[in-house]
Amino acid sequence: MYPKSFQKLIKNFSSLPSIGPKHAERLVLFLFKKSQEDIKDFSENLLDIKNLQFCKRCHNISEGDICQICANAKRDQKTVCVVEDPLDVISIERTHAYHGVYHVLGGVITATEKDDSLKIPDLFERIKKEGIAEIILATNPTTEGDMTSLYLKRKLHPLGVKITRLGRGLSTGADLEYADELTLSEALTNRKELL
Ligand SMILES: [Zn+2]
Repeated sequence: MYPKSFQKLIKNFSSLPSIGPKHAERLVLFLFKKSQEDIKDFSENLLDIKNLQFCKRCHNISEGDICQICANAKRDQKTVCVVEDPLDVISIERTHAYHGVYHVLGGVITATEKDDSLKIPDLFERIKKEGIAEIILATNPTTEGDMTSLYLKRKLHPLGVKITRLGRGLSTGADLEYADELTLSEALTNRKELL
């Protein structure tokens, strides 16, 4: 039987996605062998995660009310790339090919349930209030991602904003998160206007 604190940590790790009990045991053993200093750094960073919040404007992860991308005057504030979650922002930022801002929906529309937490009404508000010139629909090329884009296109059309969709080349069913930088950068450059 493991000591109590060891057991408690195994339980913590097992609660994480894709970590089974055996994997959790190995992680705890790994940490046990680390230096006091490393563990201190690890636990402080863990606590700091709760100082993060969602950007009040684009709903990306942020250290303050407004994220660094929204606050950057060098970014094109009139072009908004609409993505499903903050990890997609990270993938697109990695390409260095995009200089506009974002809007994080927080998920997708599904056929079975209505999700009121999606930041869709906020997007409409932003377009009107900020005089947005172009909306790039960059949901994942999955059935639900496509369905969400189609819905947004229909709703956004009357607002008179230019609407584009990432170019093909991204493999169907895959997540933006796993697309390589070159493919993603080309998909951005080859984006097509939806009329
Ligand atoms: Zn932001």
